[in-house]
Amino acid sequence: MQSWAALSSACGQCQRCGLASSRQQVVLGRGNPEAPLLLIGEAPGQQEDEQGLPFVGRSGQLLDRLLEEAGFNLSHDLYICNVVKCRPPGNRKPTREERQQCRPWLDQQIALVNPRVIVLAGATAIEALLGIKGGITKLRGQWQGGEQRWLLPVFHPAYLLRFGSEAEQSPRWFTRQDLKTARERALAPPPCSLPPP
Ligand code: SF4
Repeated sequence: MQSWAALSSACGQCQRCGLASSRQQVVLGRGNPEAPLLLIGEAPGQQEDEQGLPFVGRSGQLLDRLLEEAGFNLSHDLYICNVVKCRPPGNRKPTREERQQCRPWLDQQIALVNPRVIVLAGATAIEALLGIKGGITKLRGQWQGGEQRWLLPVFHPAYLLRFGSEAEQSPRWFTRQDLKTARERALAPPPCSLPPP
């Protein structure tokens, strides 16, 4: 896939898995498609399915607030998408087969954005990109990869809705700290390639 226009057009008509029959629309992504940071969640929910944009429901509103508090310019600093582009009925977790069928679209998004940092929000994104099942409490905040591209697991904002506290060491506090760290690494100037004088 050579361009966002071609990807958007092809993905918008996708019928590869059973989720095509119940969706209202394909939810590709939002934000800056040339951003240095890509945030990947699980799958669209009801409001995302209605509006055609990822993370616009309650968890998305919380995510946007935490991102802004971490210093992000939402329209410039990042691009947001999901592992699976169509809403699973009842907001269930996407199946392994659905994730596999949808994976080429995600891979093309990663190639087009070509981010320095990928933030993996929740267990589904962590399993899809790192092949690690479970253990998010230990994994969050632990950098993976390196050199060309860094990946950072964080809690999914839907999980954070279960906890109202913003106190130090709370899940929301950890997530804000993780997002700050991710932003710093994504926006840091590239290392100078000139030899020392
Ligand atoms: S979830 Fe992905 S693979 Fe399935 S129909 Fe939607 S775009 Fe296609």
